[in-house]
Amino acid sequence: MDIHFITNCEIEPEVDCLVIPAWENEVHVAINSSLIALEDQTSLNLINDRGTISGKDLFYLPTPMSAYRGILILGLGKKEGDMSHKFRNAAGKAVGLLQKYKKHHLLLELEHAPELQTRHFVAAVNLAQYEHTAFKTKASETIKVDNLCVHLCTSKEITIEQIKANRAQTFTECANYARDLGNAPGNALTPKILAEKARELAKETESEIEVLGETDMEKLGMGALLSVSQGSSEEAQLITLKHTHPSASKTVAIVGKGLTFDAGGTSLKPSKGMQDMKFDMCGAAAVLGAFKAICECNAAINVVCVVPSSENLINGDATKPGDIVTSYSGKTIEIYNTDAEGRLILCDAMAYTVEKHKPDVMVDVATLTGAAIVALGHEMAAVISEDEELQGELIEAGKQVHERLWPLPINDDYKSLLKGKDADLCNIGPPYAGTVTAACFLSNFTGDTRWAHLDIAGTAWGMKGCSYINENLASGFGARLLAKWLMNISE
Ligand SMILES: [Zn+2]
Repeated sequence: MDIHFITNCEIEPEVDCLVIPAWENEVHVAINSSLIALEDQTSLNLINDRGTISGKDLFYLPTPMSAYRGILILGLGKKEGDMSHKFRNAAGKAVGLLQKYKKHHLLLELEHAPELQTRHFVAAVNLAQYEHTAFKTKASETIKVDNLCVHLCTSKEITIEQIKANRAQTFTECANYARDLGNAPGNALTPKILAEKARELAKETESEIEVLGETDMEKLGMGALLSVSQGSSEEAQLITLKHTHPSASKTVAIVGKGLTFDAGGTSLKPSKGMQDMKFDMCGAAAVLGAFKAICECNAAINVVCVVPSSENLINGDATKPGDIVTSYSGKTIEIYNTDAEGRLILCDAMAYTVEKHKPDVMVDVATLTGAAIVALGHEMAAVISEDEELQGELIEAGKQVHERLWPLPINDDYKSLLKGKDADLCNIGPPYAGTVTAACFLSNFTGDTRWAHLDIAGTAWGMKGCSYINENLASGFGARLLAKWLMNISE
């Protein structure tokens, strides 16, 4: 989408819709816009007097004789609470209507609403316009918004608004990249194909990349990761991408769970909904999306992006409940449930990352536990950390992009629930506090590194509460949040 700003009332000839946000009870302010022709203002005032424009929903008036051809009043609801999100949600809803009327070159009026920022509109439109059509034989015929002209009251805001809007554009493109990865079916995105995608990303962003195969992992003693992939004929991969910046002094590791398909292994899942287990690599998609974004912004921070990737299937070699494996760290693990496999691939990836890259901070992202959905539903993801400052930074970044996090506890009481009977650890705790005990398991593999864990099982797909995210598809949750956080802490 091309984004540019104006402060005069000259309407470009290509404009095909004037979009005006309006708060409930303040519709008259919107209608007074200096961009609207007098005769259209008269019509709108008449319609408004009859109470047809609520300021709560969309209202579209075709004006074929005008320079802008149509007016869309973007009802935002009450002017209170999270106004940015109300703006995003209204913009998300507008996308369906704009597509119906085949509008693609918008003139957005913000002169009367200094509380609204272009970047929120851009983010919502880009995310709402996302389609997953890679496997359709017929090309999409949807008309998409490709040009946005924004009317502001003073030119002094333009430079900063343009930078913010461009960044929102980059972030949402990277989130949509993550969604493409997330939506790909298991047969089109095996661990090796994911590694190939990571190589393409490394090339595009001129980043370093290392991909370890199973022979390398055997030499390194990554028994936990290998115990997951041994039930599949697809080879596991451990992918590491590296972004370095000359003026950066700190290194951050972001680690994403890349289970390209999770059938549960010997602890087989029920068949209902199992097709959704292609989404079990959405943590990987999130870290790759965030990595792409910070490379494109050339953020002044060193970032190591790590993706352990495997399938979790069931063949004659598959791990059996009760099996004991030795992890990369040397700690032994008793596998009580082969469907608690995400933590097994993550623990080796995390211990390896800590030892090899010595990050100052590490954050892992995973569709780790169904218990996260029980706790928080599909609206928010869980954050767990013993580092309150780090946790606070992540929650704040999440608020800024509306990928919201809610903290759950971690302490020694919970950690003791992961003690193994015959080995150092077991891979699953009692049937309660499952999100917390999963994080406790991972805490054994972080060394002294500042660390936070994000469980995105409820929000990676089926996400609710955002008009601009299609619930049936991968949401890209985590990509924009991590990119925002990395930008916030960059130097
Ligand atoms: Zn599983």
